[in-house]
Amino acid sequence: MYVQSHSIGWLCYFYIMQFYSADFIFDGHTFLPDGNVLVMSDNGMVEAILQNETNDSVKHLQGMLMPGMINTHCHLELSHLKGMIPEHTGLVDFLLSVNRGRHTFTPEQIDVAILQAEQQMIQNGIVAVGDISNSNHTLIQKQKRQLQYHTFVECVGLLDTNAQQRFEYSLNLCHEFEKLHPASVVLHAPYSASDTLIRLVNEVSANKRTTIHNQECEDENELFLSGEGNFLRLFNAILQDDSFFHASGKNSLQTYLPKLDQQEKLILVHNTVSSEEDIRMAHSLKKELYWCLCPNANLYIENRLPDIPMMMKNGCELMLGTDSLASNHELSILAEIQTIQEHFPAISLEEKLTWATSNGAKALGMDNTLGSFVKGKKPGMVQVENVVTRERLPGDLVIRCRP
Ligand SMILES: [Zn+2]
Repeated sequence: MYVQSHSIGWLCYFYIMQFYSADFIFDGHTFLPDGNVLVMSDNGMVEAILQNETNDSVKHLQGMLMPGMINTHCHLELSHLKGMIPEHTGLVDFLLSVNRGRHTFTPEQIDVAILQAEQQMIQNGIVAVGDISNSNHTLIQKQKRQLQYHTFVECVGLLDTNAQQRFEYSLNLCHEFEKLHPASVVLHAPYSASDTLIRLVNEVSANKRTTIHNQECEDENELFLSGEGNFLRLFNAILQDDSFFHASGKNSLQTYLPKLDQQEKLILVHNTVSSEEDIRMAHSLKKELYWCLCPNANLYIENRLPDIPMMMKNGCELMLGTDSLASNHELSILAEIQTIQEHFPAISLEEKLTWATSNGAKALGMDNTLGSFVKGKKPGMVQVENVVTRERLPGDLVIRCRP
């Protein structure tokens, strides 16, 4: 549609403009006042937000209009494990099940599951993903560039003796993904990395965005505090040995975070059992820290949630992730918001939508183009048709993604 507008004048000579109003417009940070109009060019760029625009071309959309969402933590390569892992077993048994299950599928089955999972994210209004990879299985799908990605190539290795070999494998894989989009080598979790591996990954982390699974369960803290507990069962199942592990006497985060002195932009994922004291210690290290919540995966695996109000009170910058279909029934950031809404009804919808959009974009370094309706950005547009209040999402969502 070719439109002339009094308010934005000459811009219309160069682009075809679309004018949108909605019952509610969330701009990535806040709900705009009633009557505001979003002006988008036909290439998906935000041109302006106008107040009291009344030209005949304004198209009114039912429900809520918001920028495309950011899934800050996913494992697309595990999509074929959907429905395969029992719920509420705890992290150690979950990890053992994933380890058993991931090798029993054909490459074709894995590829189809990845394709379908990506399509599901697109239909659910997701435009960018922080995706964990241990393999090159997602390379082909990512080459199609249907979503924006930062790939975090995970490094796992319990023994110092094979740390160099594990590290070089991950570094080579990272170079493959870097041909497509930003990528970095990261540690999987504090309990799955030897001291040598932590040092090697830390050494290549300067100026990179990194991530780590943090304090996902009490067993993890217990391992580092006392050298006891359920994780010894994991070590013995994988290596038939647990003598390599030495407790530090401090909990997980307090043990490893000071060692990651080159990881300045770090996304901590899960944080299910992180305490106020942990958060204060982490913030005292003066990093750019991001705290990613994956509530549906937490309920799936451990059947508990992080203390989100406490994290908010302590100034944690929050964002949302789905984790993988091995530990979630769907890849939907709005479904994560619904779960938080159900368990912590006092947290405003505006706050949660900010985590889902502008905060996620910032954590992945994509905030120059994504996450908010700001002139010059191309954040995508998502309409949730059946939203009737600024306070909460309805149960069954009617989502429409607009090009
Ligand atoms: Zn994960």
